[in-house]
Amino acid sequence: MSEHDDDVAGIPVTRRMPKAPIERIGGRKLKPATLMMGHGYDPELSEGSLKPPIFLTSTFAFENAAAGKRFFEGITGKRPGGSDGLVYSRFNGPNQEILEDRLSIWDEAEDALVFSSGMSAITTVLLANVNQGDVVVHSGPLYAATETLINKILGRFGVTFLDFPAGAAPGEVAVMLEQAKQQAKANGGKVAIIYLESPANPTNALVDIEGVAAAREQVFGSDNPPPIAIDNTFLGPLWQQPLKHGADIVIYSLTKYVGGHSDLVAGGVLGSKAHMDPIRAIRNTIGTICDPNTAWMLMRSLETLELRMSRAGENALKVCTFLRDHPKVDGLGYLGFIESNSQKDIYERHCSGAGSTFSLFIKGGEAEAFRFLDTMKIAKLAVSLGGTETLASLPAAMTHLSVPDERRAALGITDNLVRISIGVEDPDDLIADFEQALAAV
Ligand SMILES: *Cc1c(COP(=O)(O)O)cnc(C)c1O
Repeated sequence: MSEHDDDVAGIPVTRRMPKAPIERIGGRKLKPATLMMGHGYDPELSEGSLKPPIFLTSTFAFENAAAGKRFFEGITGKRPGGSDGLVYSRFNGPNQEILEDRLSIWDEAEDALVFSSGMSAITTVLLANVNQGDVVVHSGPLYAATETLINKILGRFGVTFLDFPAGAAPGEVAVMLEQAKQQAKANGGKVAIIYLESPANPTNALVDIEGVAAAREQVFGSDNPPPIAIDNTFLGPLWQQPLKHGADIVIYSLTKYVGGHSDLVAGGVLGSKAHMDPIRAIRNTIGTICDPNTAWMLMRSLETLELRMSRAGENALKVCTFLRDHPKVDGLGYLGFIESNSQKDIYERHCSGAGSTFSLFIKGGEAEAFRFLDTMKIAKLAVSLGGTETLASLPAAMTHLSVPDERRAALGITDNLVRISIGVEDPDDLIADFEQALAAV
C-alpha cells in the first residue's frame, strides 16, 4: 500500500502508516534493530494495541466505489508500485505490508514482498522473468528444490539453463554469459535472469556478486541486461547485503534465520519497485503471499533478529575453534576459516560475518557420521537451519539424496559431510556436546 494518506480526488486511501514515522532523531538515522519494534504501524489505528492485531479476513470493505476502482488499478498493474488500499487477502493485508516495510530496512531495499515459502518466492520470481526459449544462467550448487525447478520444471516450458561453479572468476562468468546469449538467440529467447546462491548449500562456496555484475556489464552493457537475483538465506540480512554489491533481486527463505525459531515457513523478495512490480503481479495472480498469522510471527522474530544472529555467529566461531584441530575432524567448511585466497577476497568484500551454518567433515565415512549424529544430545538431528536450536544433518543421505552420485561427488558432498546450524544455546554446553559425540566416533 502506498504511504501517502492524502485523499486523492475525494477517494479516501486506506491509512496504515503512522502520520509521522520515526526514522531519525535529529540528524541520526535509526538502525534496523531499533526500527523493528514499531516501524510501519500506528497503534492509534488499532484501538491503541501496542502490537499489530492479526487481521483474519479474506476481503476488505471499500469506503466507496471510486476507492475500489483506484485500489484495483494498483492490483492489476495499471498503476505501478502496488495498491493504494487493501483489497483481498490473496493480494495484500496489513500484517504482510507492515512486515514488508520492516524487512526492506535491513537490505535498504526500495520494496519487498513476502511469500508462503522460500520456494514459492523463488518460483514467483522465475515465473515473472522467464518466457519460452529463454536461458537461465545460475551459480551451482543451488538449494536442491531450486535446481529441480530451474533444471527440470522450467525445462517443460522450453526454458534452458547454463550453470557456473559458485567460486568462478568474473572472466569465466562472462564466457558463460556469452554462451547463454548465443543459446538464447538460437532458441528465439533471451538470457532471462542470472540466478545466484551465496554461500552455496552445503559447500559454503561464495559467489563474487560484484564480479558477476561486472561480467554482465561486459557482455550486455546497458542493453536490457538480465536481472541478477540472489538467494541470500544463509548470511542475510545481517551479514551480507547483495543489493550493495550489484544484485537486483534478493530472495530469502524466511523459514531460516529471519523466522529463526523453526516454527514457520515463509519467503521474501526484495529490490527496486521496478523489479518488484512484475513479481507482485504474478503473486497477485497465483496467490503465493504469506498468511497474516505467519506475517505476525515474522514481525515478532524481526525484533530479535540481530540479537539471535549475533549470538549464533559468536557461538559458531567458538564451536569451530574447538573443532578445527580435533583429531576426529577431517576439515571444516566454515566461512570464518577460509583458506582459498580468492574466496577470502570475496568474503572480505561482501560479508560482515561468517554466519552459523557450516560443514563438518568427520574422519571416516557414512558409518562414522551416523555414529556422530546419533550420539549428539543437545543438537537435534533435523534438516533446516537458522533456528534458536542447534541442528545437524547429513546432506548426502538426506537433503541431497536425490542428487545423482556424479554430481554429488563433483560438488564435494561426501558421505562424511555433516551439516551444522549453530543456535543460541550456551556455547560451552555446545562444545561439551560436540566433544562427547566425537569421542563416540
Ligand atoms: C530452505 C531454503 C530454501 C527453501 O525455502 P523454504 O522456506 O523451505 O521453501 C531456499 N534456499 C535456501 C538457501 C534454503 O536454505
